[in-house]
Amino acid sequence: MKSPGKNDGFVRRQFLQLAGGSALAAATGTALVGGTGPASAAISGRTNRPADLPAATGPRCVVVGGGAFGATLAKYLKKENPKFDVVMVEPNALYMSCFLSNLWLDDLIDLNTLQHSYCDAARSNGYVWLQGKLIDLDRDAKRAYTSEGYIDYQFIALAPGIDYNYASIGITDPAMAAACAQNFPAGFKPGSEHLSIKGKLANFEKGVFLTTVPVGNYRCLPAPYERACMIAAYFKKNKIKGKLVLLDPGEQPFAPKAPGFLAAFKELYPDIIEYRPSTTIKSVDPIKKTVTTEFETIGFDDAAIYPRVRAAKLIEDLGLSDPKGPQMEADIDVHKYFAKGDRTCYVGGDCRPMPFSKSGNTANSEAHYVAKVIAATAAGKDVDWMSPQTICYSMVNGKPEEAIVVKAKYDKGKFGFTDVELDNKRSPALALAAHEWGAGLYRDMFA
Ligand SMILES: Cc1cc2nc3c(=O)[nH]c(=O)nc-3n(C[C@H](O)[C@H](O)[C@H](O)COP(=O)(O)OP(=O)(O)OC[C@H]3O[C@@H](n4cnc5c(N)ncnc54)[C@H](O)[C@@H]3O)c2cc1C
Repeated sequence: MKSPGKNDGFVRRQFLQLAGGSALAAATGTALVGGTGPASAAISGRTNRPADLPAATGPRCVVVGGGAFGATLAKYLKKENPKFDVVMVEPNALYMSCFLSNLWLDDLIDLNTLQHSYCDAARSNGYVWLQGKLIDLDRDAKRAYTSEGYIDYQFIALAPGIDYNYASIGITDPAMAAACAQNFPAGFKPGSEHLSIKGKLANFEKGVFLTTVPVGNYRCLPAPYERACMIAAYFKKNKIKGKLVLLDPGEQPFAPKAPGFLAAFKELYPDIIEYRPSTTIKSVDPIKKTVTTEFETIGFDDAAIYPRVRAAKLIEDLGLSDPKGPQMEADIDVHKYFAKGDRTCYVGGDCRPMPFSKSGNTANSEAHYVAKVIAATAAGKDVDWMSPQTICYSMVNGKPEEAIVVKAKYDKGKFGFTDVELDNKRSPALALAAHEWGAGLYRDMFA
């Protein structure tokens, strides 16, 4: 469905009045005359009526997704320019954190620590939370179609996170993919998957619990190894006669932290963790509970199977993906985050194409920068590139709590690691720092 040019003109006029015409036109360049129409057809019903929102009080910025990137961006857009009228579109009733969730598996934190209220975040930071889902986007008309109605915007930023690619582990039949996702969820998307894995552990009495590492740049590179440690710690503490089998296509765990993880596997869990590097999954049978690698077929009693990730399908559906990218990430300017040729539409977080670590701290620090980019663009100015900051603690022991850590920034050219700080000697001090880091990140996103 193509929006009429009438609306297009109205939105542009309104934006120019609100933001100061000539500066903005210079800053937004082709976006004021270009962009693309909606990606899909047949928008109807509720979606084709205006969303029930207060009238815009300034240039309207729509943020899609209330994760580490989106929640931070919504807050910091208001800080960068209090005149921005910010609406965050997020379908979930509350935020449930992926980062720190492995600690919950061994009861080192409670569920409350992971959960945060979108009402409170929006109220504290002066933006509006619309509980709904982005369905389509008309970038010519600058109109976002959501499950709750459409929103006309001056700027939009999308951060819908990741989806899984089950074909990457040999599952092409949709019924089998659904069975695998439901019976053995990966636990790398927020919400139900984590609850499911926690329940599986509570009911696990003996046998093989299988976990896997995907290929590619997957969400949180150290997390599968941290999870293996936390599940093993839970088995040890509760005297469960279980074996944790970890299949890894790589030759060793995530490189900077490999010594710390390998020491933990060997010294803390020699009879529990069976780590199998250089093992690529060829197929999975979620009904017979088997995984076939290039060497053998392995049976399991329960599992959390993590396929290769890809950018959320929404990014592809809206025509924002780079079709040449193996993970269908967004085709954006890699320094300024706008969709190529459109300075009113931005994409960030784990669906970015840059090879940064797909992690919460990275997305949070990146959102601080993108808020500055959008505010500067609205004012006809520019800002210097700022590197995201990756900070990743991994809890490797539960009793006593001990962690390892890596921190890094990125160079502006090929985005390789710079300013690396690494500590692979597990310690209670780093475990304490991990809790403090998590609390600080939640504060920065929501308080
Ligand atoms: C087990 C585990 C451990 C981790 N440990 C760490 C760690 O120690 N350190 C670290 O820094 N990171 C860690 N991470 C990674 C971190 O959680 C993610 O990288 C981060 O959450 C990515 O943020 P995001 O905003 O891109 O995506 P998300 O946080 O996934 O947010 C995406 C949001 O978009 C919403 N959405 C999707 N589709 C739509 C739509 N159509 N309309 C509107 N909204 C939509 C979703 O509901 C979701 O709320 C870990 C992750 C896991 C799973």
